[in-house]
Amino acid sequence: AEEHLFCVGCGAPIQTKRPQELGYIPAAALVTRGNQQLDIYCQRCFRLRHYNEIEPVSLTNDDFLKVLSRISQQSALVVNVIDIFDVDGSLLPALHRFIGDNPYILVGNKEDLLPKSLKRAKIKDWLRQQANHFGLKPLAVVLLSAEKNRGIDELLEQINKYRQTRDVYFVGVTNVGKSTLINHLLQQAAGIKNLITVSRFPGTTLDFIKLPLTDGGNLIDTPGIIQSNQIIHRLTTKEMKLIQPIKELKPKVYQLGAGQTLLLGGLARIDYLKCSKKSMILYLAGQLKVHRTKTENAEHFIDRHLGGLLQPPFKENAASFRNLQRHVFKTQQKSDLVFSGLGWVTIPAGATVAAWVPKETGVTIRKAMI
Ligand code: GDP
Repeated sequence: AEEHLFCVGCGAPIQTKRPQELGYIPAAALVTRGNQQLDIYCQRCFRLRHYNEIEPVSLTNDDFLKVLSRISQQSALVVNVIDIFDVDGSLLPALHRFIGDNPYILVGNKEDLLPKSLKRAKIKDWLRQQANHFGLKPLAVVLLSAEKNRGIDELLEQINKYRQTRDVYFVGVTNVGKSTLINHLLQQAAGIKNLITVSRFPGTTLDFIKLPLTDGGNLIDTPGIIQSNQIIHRLTTKEMKLIQPIKELKPKVYQLGAGQTLLLGGLARIDYLKCSKKSMILYLAGQLKVHRTKTENAEHFIDRHLGGLLQPPFKENAASFRNLQRHVFKTQQKSDLVFSGLGWVTIPAGATVAAWVPKETGVTIRKAMI
């Protein structure tokens, strides 16, 4: 029956099966509305109307690219939100191909997770370098914490500075905190009256949510892009809780030599093949349990304890983490071995390590951030 229904807010076809996707409404809610076809709002638009809250939705990469390329045909300002804890997993190297010549602001969210001792100006420079490395040229780089409400004013300043009267598109992969950020923008409406008008009703463009700005433009939320290599798409909600950092990362130092292995729950593993200095510094969510073993015993240990002592994954989901892929890295300088979505491990110069991760999960090496 839902086949012929469309959300009157965003125009998306109504569906009851995929909560993360466009046009979702719980089946029960649909029933109580009977067969009335007129004013059905999808859950996302409903929440926006009633609670002033944006719900995250996501699209597959292909669909998203179609959506994004529509942006290139207009004159707009783009705000690309990334997760500072997972830069490799959330930066969009192809961004300029899809937003055309439109200028963009790079937002590094979840700044609250980084150690307070780190100079924010330095991280901004570092973030700009990461973007430049992929040929990306942001107009401005803003570091902020959507959740802690820090740095949002600076983003607004930059938006006002560069927007003229153009529409402002918010884009990003799933889980970077884009919805949290937009919700805070909405909640702070008192402070930003000059930006967003009082009637915050979603517009009617399929798959975009438009928030009218006072001088005629719109702030537009786009669906999050599903990067299939993000580890979160392989985990259940409960498992995800164990890998998502919730407060400032506390570096943990391990004294570790050649022939030793660290197991990051059952999700990843790092073997020290050759070492110069006997230490590694781990920047991971505190809820993720790390185990140390001899490399020669690692396989046996994993066989016995995956889904038990080694969590996540939990038992039900363990099978798909049995065959980790091995990648070898040598360091010339102090470097971070980045496990996309999990965090990173700082290793000294002159080391050789093997990093093991699930198939298609990102593992990269970069100059040490800290
Ligand atoms: P979206 O998929 O990009 O819309 O992301 P959400 O807004 O749904 O946020 C994804 C996850 O990141 C949630 O668990 C949030 O609680 C968390 N999150 C969002 N913003 C921040 C932040 O500034 N700091 C931290 N530590 N977590 C955040």
